[in-house]
Amino acid sequence: MSGQEVTVLLIEDEPEIRRFLRATLPAHGFRLYEAVTGKDGLTEAQSRNPDLILLDLGLPDLEGSEVIRQVREWTATPIIVLSARDQEQVKVAALDLGADDYVTKPFGVDELLARMRAALRHAFRSATAVDEPVFSLGDLKVDLGRRQVFVSAKEIHLTPIEYKLLTTLIRYAGKVMTHRQLLKEVWGPLHVEEGHYLRVYMRQLRNKLEKNPAHPRYLVTELGVGYRLKTE
Ligand code: CA
Repeated sequence: MSGQEVTVLLIEDEPEIRRFLRATLPAHGFRLYEAVTGKDGLTEAQSRNPDLILLDLGLPDLEGSEVIRQVREWTATPIIVLSARDQEQVKVAALDLGADDYVTKPFGVDELLARMRAALRHAFRSATAVDEPVFSLGDLKVDLGRRQVFVSAKEIHLTPIEYKLLTTLIRYAGKVMTHRQLLKEVWGPLHVEEGHYLRVYMRQLRNKLEKNPAHPRYLVTELGVGYRLKTE
């Protein structure tokens, strides 16, 4: 990796893993900061504002989910969860709360680097979405600069909320968005329990954008979790 160093905060209580990453990540252009507890991790995250966070889910003081929840209150910095093999439900909960990806212990450095690069690429794309003003997917085209939506070159009229829902999904294209995340981004933090808003507007959006709204190709349901805008 060339150019500016990417800063990574590792929150992990296992000395072996900290030693392993201390020995490998700097050689790949990452500047590594470390915290051993969840509380210290939160403090470090706020003072360092890292480009990426690696978070162990089995910390001595706080649940990993609590760390994610608190980090997500103020930043969209990618979080990759380091999980043990028997932590399936904890892992899903972590993704629900806004973690970006996970690796299962024991992991190799190549696997971890690939996940880190993908998460950083996604974060960069999200941050620069306004500079890439046209989103295209199959016969769907959204001109974010002109706020115009087309299906098969025919312009589609969306209400302001429908448009906001669509552009929020575009901002996180390819990534699962939980119901709470979408409600918070589109309607605001006071409406995260209003799941019916989301169902109503998602149905309207599908009716306008999908050839077969009952079998959506773009706006896909992730059962029990939320929705995802496909990217291919
Ligand atoms: Ca641990």
